[in-house]
Amino acid sequence: MAKVVVLGAGISGHTAISYLSKYLKKEHEVVMVSPNSNFQWIPSNIWVGVGLMTPDQVKFELAPVYKKMGVNYKQALATSIHPEGDAENEKGFVTIKYVTGENERKEEKVTYDYLINGTGPKLNFDATEGLGPNKFTQSVCTYDHAEHAWGRLQESFKKMENGERQTFLVGTGHALATCQGAAFEYILNIAFEINKRKLSHLADMWWISNEYELGDFGMGGAYVKRNGYITPTKIFTESILKEYGIRWIKRAGVQKVAKGKVFYENLRGEFHTKEFDFAMLIPGFAGAGMKAFNKDNEDISLEVFAANGMMKVDADYTPKAYEDWRAEDWPSTYQSQKYENIYAAGIAFAPPHGMSKPMESPNGTKIFPTPPRTGMPSGVIGKIVAQNIIHSIKVGKIEHPHAASMAKMGAACIVSAGYGLFKGQAAVMTVNPIVPDWEKYPKWGRNIKDTVGVVGTAGHWMKLLMHYMFLYKAKAKPFWWLIPE
Ligand SMILES: Cc1cc2nc3c(=O)[nH]c(=O)nc-3n(C[C@H](O)[C@H](O)[C@H](O)COP(=O)(O)OP(=O)(O)OC[C@H]3O[C@@H](n4cnc5c(N)ncnc54)[C@H](O)[C@@H]3O)c2cc1C
Repeated sequence: MAKVVVLGAGISGHTAISYLSKYLKKEHEVVMVSPNSNFQWIPSNIWVGVGLMTPDQVKFELAPVYKKMGVNYKQALATSIHPEGDAENEKGFVTIKYVTGENERKEEKVTYDYLINGTGPKLNFDATEGLGPNKFTQSVCTYDHAEHAWGRLQESFKKMENGERQTFLVGTGHALATCQGAAFEYILNIAFEINKRKLSHLADMWWISNEYELGDFGMGGAYVKRNGYITPTKIFTESILKEYGIRWIKRAGVQKVAKGKVFYENLRGEFHTKEFDFAMLIPGFAGAGMKAFNKDNEDISLEVFAANGMMKVDADYTPKAYEDWRAEDWPSTYQSQKYENIYAAGIAFAPPHGMSKPMESPNGTKIFPTPPRTGMPSGVIGKIVAQNIIHSIKVGKIEHPHAASMAKMGAACIVSAGYGLFKGQAAVMTVNPIVPDWEKYPKWGRNIKDTVGVVGTAGHWMKLLMHYMFLYKAKAKPFWWLIPE
């Protein structure tokens, strides 16, 4: 009997465990370790942040679903990995700490034959002074953050209803932050809500971003086919912001936030401030902060994880000049470089390098977006990692018939504004591949036939449909596996 342990019940980890339990549960043991008792469909947090959905509509309790799946669920936080075991355990194990319930603070060693690290990002608010929902800015990265943001947003709406002007600032809260797409979607939704309330004349809307040009989105921008023409995402994005009456500050590395004021440096090396009444700024991301130890209990974290805490996998991490970056540098099986029975899926794996060109101010401050790993690739990676482990268990040796390089797979990104069947609009962008491949596609960096941008109501329907479809799938309802990642 083999034992597979998954860390993190997010998009990648939950996808992985769904497949593992479907194919292994009868003869093998499948364990999930995750601290939050709920699964959340993070993309819909945007709607919680503007009061169009409640947290209950975007989350569900994991315990009954895992019971149905036959998964041994431990509501706990993984703190360290011991891939070589220790004096008591021959096998690799993970140390976990229970965070709630009667076991609170209890530590346990969970042994494994295969381990998947799907711990996603640590929301690193502490990397920017004054950032975050406990301080001076809002977040929509979790459902409770989004609910809090909605509370603050309503206060601004009330002030506007009383004739007071309000300044809204949305974007990135760290010089190296990623996930611009989520912030972009949120600012469009705020603009939509303000417009709906006929308060636009009292709103100053600002987008602030570490992107060199708007529309970079951490993937070096893209050329998209739109209405038969090839358009850079810079134009696509700027035209959408203009349409919604939103002004922008680009090439900005936010360094500090105080009450109602953001301090940032730009790529010219100038220091500026921007005042706000309401701000939602995405923090920098880091790895979950787990440590790794060898058999002699020596700390080997730097061999297993990159400096940002994300796990090193089958990528080429050799430091290279921007001009030398290659699509093949990106991983395809997500197997740990050091231990063959450990994998990292979703945001937990360390990318070999960015997709956006690294930029530095004259003061030496690096200001550019780090690479995103959105829901679709995270789900696909979770699935192929699970498939490879299922295969390896069945044939008795580690083999990888399944691969999913972000330099080979496409992804769709839907940025919707508004809600309901007739009141919403969305900008839909598909890119193929996600990581540009200038050798294979020397003209546009991607396959221009599949790299498309469209604005309209249909995209909005797709986003709504995705909400219901993916929650259905995540709840493991009948035939869930027919729904793609
Ligand atoms: C507001 C917002 C909107 C977004 N919208 C979209 C969108 O429209 N489309 C899209 O494709 N993507 C979107 N994304 C991105 C998408 O949510 C992420 O790509 C995806 O969630 C990454 O999946 P993951 O499994 O790597 O991490 P997560 O989904 O974050 O899951 C990580 C899991 O690990 C758990 N965990 C953390 N630490 C530990 C530990 N030490 N031990 C055990 N478990 C741990 C966490 O509790 C969590 O359950 C959005 C992101 C945000 C923030």
